[in-house]
Amino acid sequence: MIPSLLPTYSRAPLTFVSGSGAWLETEDGRRLLDLGAGIAVNALGHAHPALVAALTDQAQKVWHLSNLYQIPQQQALADALVAQTFADTVFFTNSGTEACELAVKMARKHFHDAGQPDRVEIITFDGSFHGRSSAGIAAAGSEKMTRGFGPLLPGFVHLPFGDHDALKAAITDHTAAILIEPIQGEGGIRPVPDQCLKGLREMCDAHGLLLIFDEVQCGMGRTGKLFAHEWAGVAPDIMMVAKGIGGGFPLGAVLATETAASGMTLGTHGSTYGGNPLGCAVGKAVLDIVGEPDFLADVNRRAGALRQKLEGLVAAHPDVFDSVRGSGLMLGLKCKLPNTDVVAAGYDADVITVPAADNVVRLLPPLTLTDEDISEALKRLDRAASAILTPA
Ligand SMILES: *Cc1c(COP(=O)(O)O)cnc(C)c1O
Repeated sequence: MIPSLLPTYSRAPLTFVSGSGAWLETEDGRRLLDLGAGIAVNALGHAHPALVAALTDQAQKVWHLSNLYQIPQQQALADALVAQTFADTVFFTNSGTEACELAVKMARKHFHDAGQPDRVEIITFDGSFHGRSSAGIAAAGSEKMTRGFGPLLPGFVHLPFGDHDALKAAITDHTAAILIEPIQGEGGIRPVPDQCLKGLREMCDAHGLLLIFDEVQCGMGRTGKLFAHEWAGVAPDIMMVAKGIGGGFPLGAVLATETAASGMTLGTHGSTYGGNPLGCAVGKAVLDIVGEPDFLADVNRRAGALRQKLEGLVAAHPDVFDSVRGSGLMLGLKCKLPNTDVVAAGYDADVITVPAADNVVRLLPPLTLTDEDISEALKRLDRAASAILTPA
């Protein structure tokens, strides 16, 4: 008999009832160190006082307003994002995959309205992840996500990751945009080198294409800059954001330049919940903290400390781990043993990590991870790695 919850997830036997900072507590009182943060969502950890205050304060006033009316919380967050990024305009969604939907629509509409209606194709890369909507799975194109769900939304061209020649050859008169994660998350923490992001920008400029960055996972301070592409010194035309932007409240956004967004005129897109007052009040509180240069400088400092210790962990357990990769607090441990075994051993050692493709264990801790938490993380990961080779 089918369970009452549609069984699409393999769930660990852990039931958390409360959290504080980087710590989660189970119903039977176990405390686990959370290096997953709900997959890069709880950017400021659990129960951050400023976010609790923003949410409860807004909850006393008004929860939902249609986008038929002015929503000051939404306006304030859009203004702040525009002030701090490449973008001229913002549309709020409830999730990353909805941001993908709009990014695709926006790119196509741009060329349609610019008198180039044949430019509909969007180039994407193997190992990418853009969400589970029909556009999201068609964009990523992996067998695992698309099998059985056809016919798939057409117009996506899938290329091998990091193959410059294939990319050059793939650009035609039908190409509208290149869509890429500056650091692949689900794909196994695979960063795109700064030089390649620069190259993509140049290629898009040379061919009149739009560059779309999916920063759903790598954005919002995760790499120690507000957005990951800032490290490369290049900006996209359209950017998808979600996960960390709401700090745990469902919120996403598409940020765009005026030119890229030019086709999105009155009535061309909408969302009932997107940009609701609760989400935007929390999102503004998140950005007020994460957008501070001092906060990001401290993220970089702590990320450096964590990474250095992880290099030591890998060296101490050469049979378990191969290497560390990633940027800031978006780190991957490439494993030699099955990554799911390493994650499970972590649970037994009271530390939460997240598996990814390419046999990687992801560390996506709250950006507020303290120095003490880092020491504790290493003790627990070390215990997990030791236990996995000498099971009790
Ligand atoms: C999680 C993720 C998405 C999808 O976001 P949802 O909120 O789950 O729809 C899209 N792109 C990337 C890079 C992601 O990590």
